[in-house]
Amino acid sequence: MKFSEEIKRRRTFGIISHPDAGKTTLTEKLLLFGGAIQEAGAVKSNKVKKGATSDFMEIERQRGISVATSVLAFEYKNIKINILDTPGHKDFAEDTFRTLTAVDSVIVVIDVAKGVEEQTEKLVEVCRMRNIPMIVFINKLDREGKDAFELLDEIEQKLKLTVTPLSFPIGMGYDFKGIYNIWEQNVNLFTGDPRRDIEETVEISDLSSKELDNLIGEKAAGTLREELELAHGVYPEFNKQDYLDGNLQPVFFGSALNNFGVRELLDCFINIAPTPRPKDSDTRKVLPDEKDFTGFVFKIHANMDPKHRDRLAFIKVVSGKFERNKPYLHVRHGKNLKFSSPNAFFAEKKEIVEVSYPGDIVGLHDTGNFKIGDTLTEGEQLMYKGIPSFSPEHFRYINNADPMKSKQLEKGIDQLMDEGVAQLFTLEMNGRKVIGTVGALQFEVIQYRLEHEYGAKCTYENLNVHKACWIEPENPKGEEFADFKRVKSKYLAKDKRGQLVFLADSAFSLQMAQQKYPSIKFHYTSEF
Ligand code: GDP
Repeated sequence: MKFSEEIKRRRTFGIISHPDAGKTTLTEKLLLFGGAIQEAGAVKSNKVKKGATSDFMEIERQRGISVATSVLAFEYKNIKINILDTPGHKDFAEDTFRTLTAVDSVIVVIDVAKGVEEQTEKLVEVCRMRNIPMIVFINKLDREGKDAFELLDEIEQKLKLTVTPLSFPIGMGYDFKGIYNIWEQNVNLFTGDPRRDIEETVEISDLSSKELDNLIGEKAAGTLREELELAHGVYPEFNKQDYLDGNLQPVFFGSALNNFGVRELLDCFINIAPTPRPKDSDTRKVLPDEKDFTGFVFKIHANMDPKHRDRLAFIKVVSGKFERNKPYLHVRHGKNLKFSSPNAFFAEKKEIVEVSYPGDIVGLHDTGNFKIGDTLTEGEQLMYKGIPSFSPEHFRYINNADPMKSKQLEKGIDQLMDEGVAQLFTLEMNGRKVIGTVGALQFEVIQYRLEHEYGAKCTYENLNVHKACWIEPENPKGEEFADFKRVKSKYLAKDKRGQLVFLADSAFSLQMAQQKYPSIKFHYTSEF
């Protein structure tokens, strides 16, 4: 197949949702359609229940065995689909934000009864800011839930999206009869049998036809006609370009558990979802069909096997072909690296691949060369941007609990930070190390992993920090900045890249500092 054909047939996306909305179930059904798995239950949920650390460890262990859950690839109607895993749990939100830099589009799953939930809001906001095309799937239609119009309203208001339904439910819960597919103009009847993988659909191109009444009953048909007419009047006509530009979000209804409405979603998805998109770098915009390979690391997966301290760096191919055993430039280190066993991912396994194309994800074995955001090229000096660090929510001092193992501790902390598990700040005043995380869960995870993977022990000590702000003085040599550094010396630290960070102990002191030092900018993310 020609290079351009390979690009055209790729769709790389993520499914985002609040935990429990049905992301895992939907993923599994999509894989069933692709023939990538044979039965339900094959996809491991990455869910952390009630924030239990033991759960997380168990999940990490399972994931270690089956890393394939990070990327699930399958083919459907000759389209190569790559699904990137995005943890829904809020403590892992940063992981999800980073993964969103590698997707070309997303599907947002919403629970029909719960409507728009907190994590959905945050994740959709990130996608909206990056103009990522989004399709919404409203799930669990077999249960009693909110009215379709009410939900569409809620999505518009809370998620600030412009929606247009491409399917419409006929009844709901006990009365759920099926779905009218606006996109394909047919009716799909609900039988509640999850084992079906091919649904029977009835073509209804003329809504006023008697056939509709025969199919779902006069009353339901009447309601459907009214609702569709209303929808037609209220919502904009679907337009593919608006969707691709991130200005219009089509909505589908269904029930993932019952494998209902999923084929419709998938068929529309492969039709409208974007092929690999161009990406901005620090020097220029890079197009997928350029001849030379470029790619970037968006995720690092920890020690699959504790006996070898091996990691897997996940690279998204942005342009050109990634080839096995060909030397590529690691731009940050300025050195050439060759990879003899790059992995490609399938639903249940990973395999060594010779060639990967734009949109694909390649897993590279790494002994510590990579950190998140690193760029590989065929020699061009360019770096992809767009993976910021966010100000953490929780802060603690980290202490060495075993003086004989200080080297191991240092190395462990270093590598865990490169993976993006947490952020390290070193206090200017006394060199003490502070760990900042998005969720409280990460502290236990770090402690556990330091011990089990690096043989090091640590303890934590509380530290009162409200927010970490990256500091940007207008005049680095000026009097105001010198005064700031003198007065706030106790609260200043350096992050891993050596950037100055202000660890404000309260909202009040941050506000005071901002007022007193107007020429200094206080940033909540490291990218400015
Ligand atoms: P995730 O946390 O978003 O990955 O959600 P899961 O896929 O694990 O689903 C959460 C729960 O909702 C599970 O118990 C599923 O069986 C259930 N579920 C998923 N889809 C449906 C659906 O369409 N109908 C009903 N009734 N339950 C569903």
